[in-house]
Amino acid sequence: MLDYTYQIVGLFGHPVAENPTGVMQEAAFQAAGLRWRYLNFDVAPARLAECVAAAKVLGFRGLNVTIPHKVAIVPLLDEVAPAAVAIGAVNTVRRDGDRWIGENTDGKGFLRGLEEDAGVDPRGKRAMLIGAGGAARAIATELALAGIATLRIVNRDPERARALASALAASTGLTAQIESWTGPLVLAPDTDLLINATPLGLYPAVNQEPEIDWRTASPHLTVCDAVFNPAETALLRRARRQGFRTLDGLSMLVYQGVIGFELWTGQAAPQAVMKEALAAALRTRE
Ligand code: NDP
Repeated sequence: MLDYTYQIVGLFGHPVAENPTGVMQEAAFQAAGLRWRYLNFDVAPARLAECVAAAKVLGFRGLNVTIPHKVAIVPLLDEVAPAAVAIGAVNTVRRDGDRWIGENTDGKGFLRGLEEDAGVDPRGKRAMLIGAGGAARAIATELALAGIATLRIVNRDPERARALASALAASTGLTAQIESWTGPLVLAPDTDLLINATPLGLYPAVNQEPEIDWRTASPHLTVCDAVFNPAETALLRRARRQGFRTLDGLSMLVYQGVIGFELWTGQAAPQAVMKEALAAALRTRE
């Protein structure tokens, strides 16, 4: 029988025109032979509830949610997964029958990249995290849930770092230390992971980087960046040239999409296809 219908996954955000996530999801659907489409919808904050209800009625298979809806969507869902509750934000919605369940795949994407691309098991590791915004919160929560030993948080606004630390303690039981950021960041010699979760280095300000005092760094340090455009930030380039292992933000972005694909379709995702499609889309923007 002929079937001219498509299964739809939508991205709800405001704005969404320049969001490239759909490029990798559409490439994945095609590679997997699925009649699915991934479409960006510009949803004004005042219309979010109507749009979520419409997506349900129209039988969307799932959603990605981005700024400014990641927190506002929470009360509109039937259930929110425990890690997304701990993070306090949803970036992915999956369907279980008629129920819509909120997930957060940002931190899980980071973790999967850490394990699969950098070969690092976070259990028992000591991490230093720069930033205390949404990305930092997702990464910190998943690291804590994965059994990291210690976490030091440094942020331009110390109050926000303190707020993240207290939320983490309440949701995961991990007591993070707060560092003040008054000059070059000094790495404790036992630091295993350094993670930038600020926009420093993001295109077009590609020469910006957090200032680090590398002299005390362990040779086993892995340096990670949440910034994915460019894939090799000034921070990662400096770390690589000094011989440290690095993990780029493209990895986190691809794996959050890989996890979304798996949640929506129930199939293994064509990871290499997704990474190549996204990298190509980002190259054409530079
Ligand atoms: P938020 O706006 O929620 O948080 C931004 C954080 O960066 C805050 O801690 C802020 O500090 C800090 N910051 C901003 N500008 C500066 C600066 N000039 N110097 C020092 N610190 C600064 O943003 P997100 O957490 O959502 O995003 C952070 C970065 O992570 C972005 O570049 C984003 O593209 C990237 N990202 C990557 C993802 C991926 O999949 N790879 C997913 C999500 C985000 P303060 O509190 O003092 O303002």
